[in-house]
Amino acid sequence: MLKNHPSDNTLLEFSAGNLPSAVALCVSTHLSHCPECKNKVSEYNVLGGSFLKNTIKSEPVNFSFDQLMQRIENDQKDAESLLPKELKISKEKVKTAFENTNRVNEKVITKLLKSNEPLTWRKVSKSLHEAVLKTGQSTHEVCFHKIKKGGKVVEHDHKGVEITVVLEGSFSDESGTYKTGDYIEMQPGNIHKPRATQNSDCLCLTVVEAPVKLTGVIGKMVNPFISFRPR
Ligand SMILES: [Zn+2]
Repeated sequence: MLKNHPSDNTLLEFSAGNLPSAVALCVSTHLSHCPECKNKVSEYNVLGGSFLKNTIKSEPVNFSFDQLMQRIENDQKDAESLLPKELKISKEKVKTAFENTNRVNEKVITKLLKSNEPLTWRKVSKSLHEAVLKTGQSTHEVCFHKIKKGGKVVEHDHKGVEITVVLEGSFSDESGTYKTGDYIEMQPGNIHKPRATQNSDCLCLTVVEAPVKLTGVIGKMVNPFISFRPR
């Protein structure tokens, strides 16, 4: 059984279809590995359905995986390319990187890759590679992270909320070990030093909140120099 799950509140928001699709993607991936959370969401769906029936006589909310993917695909239509150009790898190498993955992950990965070809891996450090995905999300960045077996990731802080779902292999930090399917939410200010286990590479799906846009007096002074202006 998995140790790390989304909070009940997150599952409730997921059931109601209120989560940004990048976050919903992480929850959905976790649900495919976690019968416990899946049951909770089913219960919330029933509750939400009967609540709606008694109030505005609407259909129960049914937020399926395919609907979610459709939402992400729609978002992608307006997406700007976030992919760095360097270190392109061939389709075969992408396949090799994901060869041991289970069928559910394959569904997630294949859908994401379909609109992200060629997938571009950027070397962040000796043990860490990152591939940013185009999802059309202005509020979140979605990427794959690959940690080489036994590899360490330098200690880092989190500027925004960061959600990680382990797709393959496992990694550990000061707080414990995270296995395939585990859902880890790091809050701003949380510092950790992840390390992949010795026997296999670790592949994760990571969603990071976009950096906070500048507002207030300083924001007004700085913003004329950058493209974003607060409304
Ligand atoms: Zn769970």
